[in-house]
Amino acid sequence: MTFPRPLPSPNPLTAPYWQAAHQGELKLPRCEACTKFHFYPRSACPHCGATQLSWQRVSGKGEVYSFTVVHRAPSKGFEELVPYAVAVVALEEGPHLMTRLKDVDPAKVRIGLRVQVAFEKQDDETTLPVFRPAA
Ligand SMILES: [Zn+2]
Repeated sequence: MTFPRPLPSPNPLTAPYWQAAHQGELKLPRCEACTKFHFYPRSACPHCGATQLSWQRVSGKGEVYSFTVVHRAPSKGFEELVPYAVAVVALEEGPHLMTRLKDVDPAKVRIGLRVQVAFEKQDDETTLPVFRPAA
């Protein structure tokens, strides 16, 4: 028997992120004024305050900035995954994002580990970006 995991609830600010992920692309908001990326999505640039933002595809490459290993599943849907690593990944473009790591022994995860995005389809509408060690 499988149990569902909680899924994101996109809103107008975050919908472009989830739509891109469902198409197998990692996109982040970028400021048209100062050209810097940021994450999480906001209505104004956290670097300069401008509100002219666009969604741009990013490399999907980065490194582990910090991590923890989950040994006790937060709900039944995660029992098949434990133990697994949850990491803050520093993307090459600058922003940090929190994610689950896959295809790696959690005991071997280290700060600075090079990682790349992968996508896990959850249902007909939702695909989650996760990260795995870079090839
Ligand atoms: Zn800006």
